[in-house]
Amino acid sequence: MEQKVKLGISSCLLGHKVRYDGGHKLDRYLANTLGEYAEFVPVCPEVECGFPIPRESLRLVGNPESPRLVTTRTGQDFTDRMANWASRRVVELEGEGLCGYIFKSGSPSSGMQGVKIYGASGVPSNRGVGMFAMAFMKHFPMLPTEQESRLYDPRLRENFIERVFAYQRWRQLLEKRKSRGNLVDFHTRHKLQILSHSPKHHQAMGRLVARAAEQTLSELYEQYQGLFMKALSLVATVKKNASVLMHMMGYFKKQLTSDEKQELLEIIERYRKEYVPLVVPITLMKHYVRKYDQPYLKVQHYLNPHPAELTLRNHV
Ligand code: SF4
Repeated sequence: MEQKVKLGISSCLLGHKVRYDGGHKLDRYLANTLGEYAEFVPVCPEVECGFPIPRESLRLVGNPESPRLVTTRTGQDFTDRMANWASRRVVELEGEGLCGYIFKSGSPSSGMQGVKIYGASGVPSNRGVGMFAMAFMKHFPMLPTEQESRLYDPRLRENFIERVFAYQRWRQLLEKRKSRGNLVDFHTRHKLQILSHSPKHHQAMGRLVARAAEQTLSELYEQYQGLFMKALSLVATVKKNASVLMHMMGYFKKQLTSDEKQELLEIIERYRKEYVPLVVPITLMKHYVRKYDQPYLKVQHYLNPHPAELTLRNHV
């Protein structure tokens, strides 16, 4: 975690005055709290593709699969300008080493989902995707993406930030020489984290790694990455976390005293009933992992998936 995680972000969320009305949409959690651990690459599609500040506002019209980007009042069509710029910009962003992207919701350029799109009747539906966001997600299908409105939900926020730091570790793995041993080691350290998101993917990835010798390294890495990012995109529920905690307990059942076992079971149960947040059983589990120096558990990223200062596991 010593290296800051690199994130693309809609510029206005950092307080840059780039909006059509000359304003911004500063999000203090993103800019300040997450900003302690992230290096941001700000992008304002509308300004970068040549619109002035202030400017006439834009909206999406037509088909959600291939929307047109037009000005709200005068109806000028800027679809081609935005599409050409976006196709160049995503290629430029390849060199940034991004581990995720945070879009500004509702924008016809930057919104990731639920953007208003106007059909022939003039009545909008919420099925649009901002033009730059669409180009970005097509170009980087594996990269964690979110829009700021969804990050107010503590479960989605936790999930997104967890994926971002997992993607950073994946990038760090790719910087090393590709080898089956390195991939197996990566998998071993992420087993419980994967299990907390998706037992089904945990099983499939276990099979993939067990048969690692049957594929070329490139195929193996590609398949693993797809499964890894897909698994982590599924939200870790209370039920799944409680079952991982019970599974962990099995690793030092013999070392725990009967009081310690009882205490841990009670706390897991309180978490299962949603009386206490996940950080409570995790803190106790970490204490026992340290106390008994449990070799498998102490390397599990599940215990430290992101900086504790972000207080992401503190909600019930
Ligand atoms: S929503 Fe996107 S296009 Fe609009 S001001 Fe923010 S960064 Fe620029």
